Amino acid sequence: MIKGGNLLDIATDNDPCLKVRASEVADINDATIQQLIKDMIATMYNAQGIGLAATQIRKSVRIMVFYLPETRDDINHTGVPLTVLINPTVEPIGDEFSSDYEGCLSVPGMRGKVKRYQKIQYTGLSVNGERIDRVAEGWHARLVQHEFDHLNGILYPELMAEEDRLISFVEWKALSIVSP
Ligand code: ZN
Repeated sequence: MIKGGNLLDIATDNDPCLKVRASEVADINDATIQQLIKDMIATMYNAQGIGLAATQIRKSVRIMVFYLPETRDDINHTGVPLTVLINPTVEPIGDEFSSDYEGCLSVPGMRGKVKRYQKIQYTGLSVNGERIDRVAEGWHARLVQHEFDHLNGILYPELMAEEDRLISFVEWKALSIVSP
């Protein structure tokens, strides 16, 4: 599925494309959309990210790609395989929240603490048009909420509490020695 993907430039910081609410994909079989998905996957892996939304590569369509490595899966410890989610929906389950540090390919070199729903249900279409309907918890849920926000033009620093500040990757690394 990754074969034939081109590397695209990832928009950062104040790039206006990051503030746009993306539109629904009308025809997922459209050749342009199918190529875009390949490009997004190649670009995400190349940048060593675990998620990428189409708005980050200046395409205003509701597509996200992500995967969760086993080591980041705090709930099931199995990881989540590479997932393409088109026209997604995200709904919270319950009212439990968790706070943790997130990074973003569009906010390079930084980390910030964000409060997210601990558990969600999300749906969407796969690259083949099959319906995806999953319940996610912990980091899986955090990752999906982060990418979903991108499709609505929201970057994580906007969600941080006033008393928290963005920290550099180096500062964050020092913190994570204390609390892995
Ligand atoms: Zn991001």
